[in-house]
Amino acid sequence: MRIAVGGIHTECSTYSPVLMTVEDFRVLRGEDLLNSDYFGFLSAEGIDHLPLLHARAVPGGPVSRPAYDALKSEFLERLKAALPFDGLYLAMHGAIKVDGMDDAEGDWISAARAIVGASCPLAVSYDLHGNVSQRIIDQIDIFAAYRTAPHIDTRETMMRSWSMLVEALRSGTRPGVAWARVPLLLPGERTSTEDEPAAGLYRGLADINRRPGILDANLMVGYVWADEPRATACAVVTGADKEAATKAVEEIAASYWFNREEFRFGSISGSLAQMLGIAESAKTAPVILADSGDNPTGGGVGDRADVLIALIERGWRDALIAGIADRPAVDACFAAGTGGILKFRVGGSLDTSSPSAEIEAKVVRLDDPGPATERQAVVEAAGIEIVLSARRRPYHNIEDFTRLGLDPRGVRLLIVKSGYLSPELAPIANPSLMALTDGVVNQEIEKLASLRRERPIFPFDRDFEFRPSARLSARWI
Ligand SMILES: [Zn+2]
Repeated sequence: MRIAVGGIHTECSTYSPVLMTVEDFRVLRGEDLLNSDYFGFLSAEGIDHLPLLHARAVPGGPVSRPAYDALKSEFLERLKAALPFDGLYLAMHGAIKVDGMDDAEGDWISAARAIVGASCPLAVSYDLHGNVSQRIIDQIDIFAAYRTAPHIDTRETMMRSWSMLVEALRSGTRPGVAWARVPLLLPGERTSTEDEPAAGLYRGLADINRRPGILDANLMVGYVWADEPRATACAVVTGADKEAATKAVEEIAASYWFNREEFRFGSISGSLAQMLGIAESAKTAPVILADSGDNPTGGGVGDRADVLIALIERGWRDALIAGIADRPAVDACFAAGTGGILKFRVGGSLDTSSPSAEIEAKVVRLDDPGPATERQAVVEAAGIEIVLSARRRPYHNIEDFTRLGLDPRGVRLLIVKSGYLSPELAPIANPSLMALTDGVVNQEIEKLASLRRERPIFPFDRDFEFRPSARLSARWI
């Protein structure tokens, strides 16, 4: 039997003015896809896997229309060329916004369905921060999403979806998908599966999963920084039995809604001034402060200098900021060379409305792995070390620091652009603080413009009733 494999995977804040281009995507094609670690699990006796195209990018602003069109048309060409096959597996994120287009995954998956025809089973895997629509559900037979945030079950989730597809092909059965919207949108930082009530809700999915007729139970938190009609939480269940799936979907949706007032930030959080006040009096180290409004892994631009400005104003010493995306500043550092002293502006290189700071800095270290877009520079200004990167990127893994000769454990205050801390930084934070800073992924979502979301929706609206109502995929009716 033959399974074709592809997809597109990113997350886009509709509040960001910085559009993604094709260069922002890491594209796997053909054998590179099958040989990648990401798809390394694709192996089953008697199954041939046909690699199509998989495009993945660090979250950011909306994808430019030409970039999306180019990726989609190459994917569809490869899909046509791979025919005939028995099943299609798509590894998606679920929160793409294409400039000028709503429900991009609906567009991508529908286009794939039009080519493979009605009889081909189609399985998808999602990030739990993806948004779902009836259009998407109507094209698919199998759905599985992450059950952890921070995400530590990426591969497991992809395998759940793919395994259901393999099982369906082997048994000759056809699962189906039921779902229910929940008019509720909360940031991932308030719905971490390491904190209650999300932890308990996700634990409960395992019980539902064991029921007869249920293959895969999911709770989608959704993506809050998308001001588009489909943006909501939802429950999605892959099942063998319509009645069991319908009941499970309504139960999951109702329990999420019931807990809506209970979700809190997992770490100490507040304004930047409050968090720096706590950091100043901390007797332990390293204090790790998340600059949450500019978190690139949530779709933030990553070029803002708010925290740098605040530290300079306070005369702070012994802090490490990792990092600020600023290509012109990195280029200037490379021109000056290691040890060079330069006066320049840092911040606001991508979004002109981002704050910036004029600093005099010494170039401490340059990192040049090859392409100019991958370059990094470490500079020191008035007792503050700053990592500058040529492209938007996170500094969430220990290796990101050690590569630059930096020790995140050895500083008094480390500032990262992050929401909840990554699995590698969280254990060393002592303590962990989250500053509710400005940016295109501002955590204070009630303050964001909500012009296009379907209303009412909590917490933008609070005074309304809701009862979940499951809908089946059109393919399962
Ligand atoms: Zn996510």
